[in-house]
Amino acid sequence: MFCRIVSGEVPADVVRTSARTVAFRDIAPQAPVHVLVVPRVHVEHAGALDDTHAADLSDMFATARAVAEQEGIADPSRGYRLVFNVGKDAENSVPHLHLHVIGGRPMTWPPG
Ligand code: AMP
Repeated sequence: MFCRIVSGEVPADVVRTSARTVAFRDIAPQAPVHVLVVPRVHVEHAGALDDTHAADLSDMFATARAVAEQEGIADPSRGYRLVFNVGKDAENSVPHLHLHVIGGRPMTWPPG
């Protein structure tokens, strides 16, 4: 599915693109800001990353920071959460690596 968003075949609410990533709003947001940063290259999940993905990962984190800045939550007085889910217990539902950028409200941990 996310490969088809990256290719433009499936529409998404894209907030930012870079050479190696596409960032778009989550379809079921958990907070006022909930953006997914997806590498253009297909990687199943964070547990499948290796040395060849260093540039993609670097771009994903830079894009996450840029998204936080453009959404007005980058300053630590606001802040945001970055999440990678891997596997069943984490409820990873889409088999294409994605970094959740979640913010715009205070978050407690563990979730209720
Ligand atoms: P995860 O549990 O880490 O696999 O998260 C997958 C996320 O993708 C969930 O938060 C979904 O709401 C979101 N999602 C699934 N399909 C789409 C889509 N077509 N566009 C935007 N977000 C999606």
